Amino acid sequence: MLSAAFAGVLAVARTHVCYWAGRWDGQARFPKAVSLRYRSPRLDKCAAMCRSMSRMEPKRTRSSSLTDRQAMAIAIKEARAGVRQDQSPFGCAIVKGRRLVASAHNTVWQTRDSTAHAEMNAIRKVCRVLGTIDLSGCVLYTTCEPCPMCYSAAHWARIPKVVFGARIRDAQAAGFNELVIPASKMRRFSGDGIELVPEFMHDECRQLFRSWAERGNGKTC
Ligand SMILES: [Zn+2]
Repeated sequence: MLSAAFAGVLAVARTHVCYWAGRWDGQARFPKAVSLRYRSPRLDKCAAMCRSMSRMEPKRTRSSSLTDRQAMAIAIKEARAGVRQDQSPFGCAIVKGRRLVASAHNTVWQTRDSTAHAEMNAIRKVCRVLGTIDLSGCVLYTTCEPCPMCYSAAHWARIPKVVFGARIRDAQAAGFNELVIPASKMRRFSGDGIELVPEFMHDECRQLFRSWAERGNGKTC
């Protein structure tokens, strides 16, 4: 009786190890890995659930190749996470060689730091991760057109390409205290040649302002 119970515990432990190992490399190994000896209807049900969860999960992992839409989706997800924490609705993801290096959302209210815009936070993270201030191989995806401060930070970091969703005027219309100097004007003034891709997934990014407004915390920055 005792050994049967022990075998059951072992099977469950093994199930979890196999499931999480499968998740780690994007495959579901669970069904093959569970010994037939310890199978039970309950474990089979669990295995079926694991298989279905594995199918539901996106194939992308942190190290896989990202499309522009996937990279922007990460930025949007960051912004939503920020909104849930009562932060302003801005998110950013920085990619190198089509792989995500870091992402961040605006934390101005959380950190009481007026410079903690999503792009600034993401650039700081990437510099830490890569151990350099030269981000010349990176692409910055941001849910809103970078303000002059963030554009300048991208310039200093030598980021060659910026993809953005909403416009500064969209943020201004939502009540944010924007410096209404478009990125295209910054580019023209500076002559730095940063490639700009405007209004990418524009509607999804503008929707963030509506989600933020619905929470009604009224904090703009
Ligand atoms: Zn900014």
